[in-house]
Amino acid sequence: MLLAVTCGVVVAGAMAIQSLERQYLTQLSDLLDAKIRLVEYGLQPLFRASSPIPAASRLQEAARDLGNRTEARITLVAADGTVLADSAVRDADLSTVDTHRGKPEVVQALAAGYGQDIRTATTGERTIYRARLMTQPPGAQPIVVRIALPMVQINRDIAQFQRNLIGALAGALLVIASLSLWLARSITKPLSDIAQTTRQLASDRSTAPIKTTAQDEVGLLTAALNDLADQLHTKIDELSEDRAQLLAMLTSMVEGVMVLDYRSHVLQINPALERMFGVSRTEARGRPCAELFRHQELNDLVMSSLRSRTNHEGEIILPLTGRCLHIEVSVAGGERENEACVVLVFHDMTELRRLENIRKDFVANVSHELRTPLTSIKGYVEALLDGAKDDPVASAQFLDIILKQSDRLNLIIEDLLELSKIESGRILLKEEPLDLRPIIERALSTIKPIADKNGHRLVSSIDERIPPVAGDEGRLMQVLTNLLDNAVKYTPAGGTIIVDSRLVTGAEAAGTSDGAIELTVSDTGIGIPEQDRPRVFERFYRVDKARSRELGGTGLGLAIVKHIVEGHGGQVWVEANHPHGSKFVVRLPIRGRDRMAVHASDAGKA
Ligand code: ADP
Repeated sequence: MLLAVTCGVVVAGAMAIQSLERQYLTQLSDLLDAKIRLVEYGLQPLFRASSPIPAASRLQEAARDLGNRTEARITLVAADGTVLADSAVRDADLSTVDTHRGKPEVVQALAAGYGQDIRTATTGERTIYRARLMTQPPGAQPIVVRIALPMVQINRDIAQFQRNLIGALAGALLVIASLSLWLARSITKPLSDIAQTTRQLASDRSTAPIKTTAQDEVGLLTAALNDLADQLHTKIDELSEDRAQLLAMLTSMVEGVMVLDYRSHVLQINPALERMFGVSRTEARGRPCAELFRHQELNDLVMSSLRSRTNHEGEIILPLTGRCLHIEVSVAGGERENEACVVLVFHDMTELRRLENIRKDFVANVSHELRTPLTSIKGYVEALLDGAKDDPVASAQFLDIILKQSDRLNLIIEDLLELSKIESGRILLKEEPLDLRPIIERALSTIKPIADKNGHRLVSSIDERIPPVAGDEGRLMQVLTNLLDNAVKYTPAGGTIIVDSRLVTGAEAAGTSDGAIELTVSDTGIGIPEQDRPRVFERFYRVDKARSRELGGTGLGLAIVKHIVEGHGGQVWVEANHPHGSKFVVRLPIRGRDRMAVHASDAGKA
């Protein structure tokens, strides 16, 4: 724009100068015309009086006189080009003046009676020439009168005009230039701000609002863009929050989640599923479900859901881990690649199934345990009714058996009630500081008569340094008597039973903050086969059912022990005793802890 304006202004200036020059020249030309006529008029008498040609001196004098009057240079030229007079030349030099035959205005005047020219004179100034063929009497020699006027004034005026014009144009250009710059800046600044903001938006960076005071279209565009950026930020924030929440949900879910597209390619899996199948998200993404898991039933389930576009559910067992998974397949409906088509939720049912089995086993065991003495009681009562009551010896014997079986029934029911009370948390374990030594002593003295009867040697080795533990005296006593009772029961006559207590600290007592106390009851009895050791703490689990029953066991003693110990925040396990026998270890943490919480959470596991 600036360039166009500059060109226009320059052209306009040049045209103005030209037109001014033309105007000056026209005026000057008219002036010269008038002057040359006057000169011709002034010369007329001279020629009329002295024909054919007046004397050179007179001509020269007349030329000078007229030249002074008209303030111009007057030259008289003969037809052959000889200069007859020249107001600008001294008389003496006149003869040396060159012929004017070739001068354009003279040539024109001789030919047409009138001639003119503008050129730089011998003086070095631009000069305007006007020539006229003087009207002479017939037969007289033609004379050309020429008037010359230097264009100094015109040139000066035009130069002045040019200066003024250039000054004015420069001023105007300056104003235009600054105005254009300001205008361009006011338009381009917001536009470049807009461009920068859109770039930032595209690169997902936070943007400050674009500032503008413009009220025009640029202002409207800026406001619209600021609005758009605001909305975009709000939407992005909302989406990020939603995404973070979804991700948190997916990550924290216990259930495995898998999203597939319509080709059964994996789009997403959560950490729970990664753990269930031992696959990582990166290796799973984009791979077909069948190829990734290689599980026929799972694949069938997915395929039937994809084919029928209906929800399905089923249960599968993982071959390697043996875990039982319940799967719900929900149709999400995506019809394109990388669009969620079905969502699978995997519930790990292993623990539930295990507990179900334990419950079933428990019911079967309880029924069996109760039925055995009941059947026996019923049989003997029937025998008595059938006539044995009349036989005093038999009836005494039968009644004795009935009493024993009733005791056994009673014992089972008492143990069951006890277990159920501990499990349900109805029994609050006390947390008093206990010195274990007297408790061990008391348990040993309780069991001593039976041990003596069986010829067992009872040995106790109690560490003097053991600190008090926070616990329930009665319950810990129950633990010890149950373990000692078992040791006596399952050790043939003449065996040795050792009760040992020691302080464990450091790495050995991992999981406890202040160390722990280990109570050990070992015997030289029949021992427990390795495969049965983890199960002896289950209710009614007995290595040798007949033997246990014969010895008066209910199969609940160790289950009670386990619950009490865990209620104290401790652990119990059984090892082999060398060279033979069993070794039951009870580890109790020294500091009391929130037992009921642990107790409640562990209660259902046994
Ligand atoms: P029970 O009343 O049958 O003794 P427990 O729960 O006390 O029930 O014990 C469960 C089973 O663990 C027993 O039947 C027995 O087979 C085994 N058992 C327990 N203590 C010992 C031990 N000291 N030596 C050998 N076997 C044992």
